Amino acid sequence: MNIVLMGPPGAGKGTQAEFIKARYPIPHISTGDIFREAVANGTELGKKAKTYMDSGQLVPDEVTIGIIEERLAREDCQKGFLLDGFPRTTVQAEALDKALALTGRKIEAAINISVPNEILVERMSGRISCKDCKTVYNLKFNPPAKAGICDRCGGELIQRSDDRGDTVGKRLEVYMEQTNPLLDYYKAQGLLHDIDGNRDTEVVFADVRSILEKLQ
Ligand SMILES: [Zn+2]
Repeated sequence: MNIVLMGPPGAGKGTQAEFIKARYPIPHISTGDIFREAVANGTELGKKAKTYMDSGQLVPDEVTIGIIEERLAREDCQKGFLLDGFPRTTVQAEALDKALALTGRKIEAAINISVPNEILVERMSGRISCKDCKTVYNLKFNPPAKAGICDRCGGELIQRSDDRGDTVGKRLEVYMEQTNPLLDYYKAQGLLHDIDGNRDTEVVFADVRSILEKLQ
């Protein structure tokens, strides 16, 4: 079960990844996590990535792909994996396909959680989070019991600057521009599954499951 999970910010990709992780015995490989891990373990590629990150530069594709390849070579990925946050471009997708082919594997499904832009803007611009414990709330969908105060720890709730209405639209635009060619790439191979993410998370997951069950 070799899966790529995609979706714009605010589409609920993180929630679906959690559901998949809880239900299927495959590792959840999120780019952020494995970057941090490679850096913490001080691997060759981790050290390279760190130099770029420390100087505020984007980590080049060859390093990113190398780190992903190392992760996918591990024992726990041999029966499947869930990639989250990678690939982001067709160049990365092609490199991934090549690396997998070397070990007789391939991507079996690319699941894209899609939600109309105006709904994403509405979801994201209502997002606030706790300064202390980082719990995320939504003013509209999941408000705290007391305005401005975290239910869990009593910390102050703040809005991240990139979750403000005007910035959200721009972020989505950039995301779509980058991702549309990637969706076409998987569509051309008959691997793309578009799922309507504008529904209850459990209902969305039922669709995700029906795709995954066919792969087992
Ligand atoms: Zn808190």
